[in-house]
Amino acid sequence: MKRLLSSLLAICLLAGLAGCAMESPQGNESGLSASSHDFFAMNTYIRLEAYGDGAEDALALAQARIEELEGLWSVTDETSDIYAVNHSGGQPVSVSEDSVELVSFALEMAEETGGALEPTVYLVLTAWGFTTDEHRVPSQEEIDGLLASVDYRRVSVDGTTVQSEPGMMLDLGAVGKGYASDEVAALLREEGITSALLDLGGNIVMIGSRPDGSDWRLGLQSPFENDTVGVLTASDCAVVTSGNYENFFTADDGTIYGHIIDPATGYPVNNDLASVTVVAPDGKLCDALSTSLFVMGADGAIEYWREHSGFEMILIMQDRQILITEGLDDQFSLDEAHLDMELRIVEK
Ligand code: ADP
Ligand code: MG
Repeated sequence: MKRLLSSLLAICLLAGLAGCAMESPQGNESGLSASSHDFFAMNTYIRLEAYGDGAEDALALAQARIEELEGLWSVTDETSDIYAVNHSGGQPVSVSEDSVELVSFALEMAEETGGALEPTVYLVLTAWGFTTDEHRVPSQEEIDGLLASVDYRRVSVDGTTVQSEPGMMLDLGAVGKGYASDEVAALLREEGITSALLDLGGNIVMIGSRPDGSDWRLGLQSPFENDTVGVLTASDCAVVTSGNYENFFTADDGTIYGHIIDPATGYPVNNDLASVTVVAPDGKLCDALSTSLFVMGADGAIEYWREHSGFEMILIMQDRQILITEGLDDQFSLDEAHLDMELRIVEK
């Protein structure tokens, strides 16, 4: 419930800052017609807004596409591609083109991030109770036992089939919403939409700019309180944030455990980062990187950014410092209430 409430809040804030009336999207100043769809899919709240002629029809197609993808990747739905792979006893399973593409991408990113992104970490996540909301702290022995079945290198894609070893569990939760957001953006563009804001549970994609031609304004959620820390202005790109502040539990001894797991230890990430926001043209890259850079910690994330082009990031540190890569220098400003937070630019 905590998670649902905070997601809703984030969306409200976002809609407010983006200048889009939640209740009646029709009133935008540009005079363009506006449509929005709010629904629950992929375990999260989704809000799609589009402007201009044909927006309503385009959004109906977009929603159907998201629901189709959700049906392919659910870990628990017995008819999904991922369920079939996870219950095949290690046999290769023929899956849809979308699933081939996304599994391939997840495996590539797992390799590229040195295993910080680990699409087979699901069993460990389950042991901590994150998949059922029955949270608990597993013993070291239990974690060690499960980690023996966590290794993306034992999953392979061959043509249209995906194969993993018996007992392993593949889960695309860290990349699926990003992939879906790219698919929806492409679909809306094909339908002639030139201005839209897509929010798949905090995975944001902006198509073009706002209907009046100005940049979209996104409120960056504070990991510390129900508030935003600042505003990012952007157009035609994706923005995705990961952190352990939305989906977490507090153990009897007061320790806070969040839903992003460090695959090296089997423990929820606990480092110097409070959140990571990634900005790039590609939503699935943002999604994969926000999760894995969060696992790496600030030094690891900055090193990765220096070695890889094509994305920018905002790191909010546990000590409340904000680190921004140089490409976003003129796109981010702190809210007045947070001018005390130290802002540093990270250079290549
Ligand atoms: P969210 O889906 O909440 O927006 P993320 O994109 O960061 O956030 O994905 C977190 C989800 O990914 C977790 O809920 C879990 O299902 C899965 N996960 C947790 N740790 C990892 C990891 N190291 N690599 C890949 N997936 C992970
Ligand atoms: Mg992610």
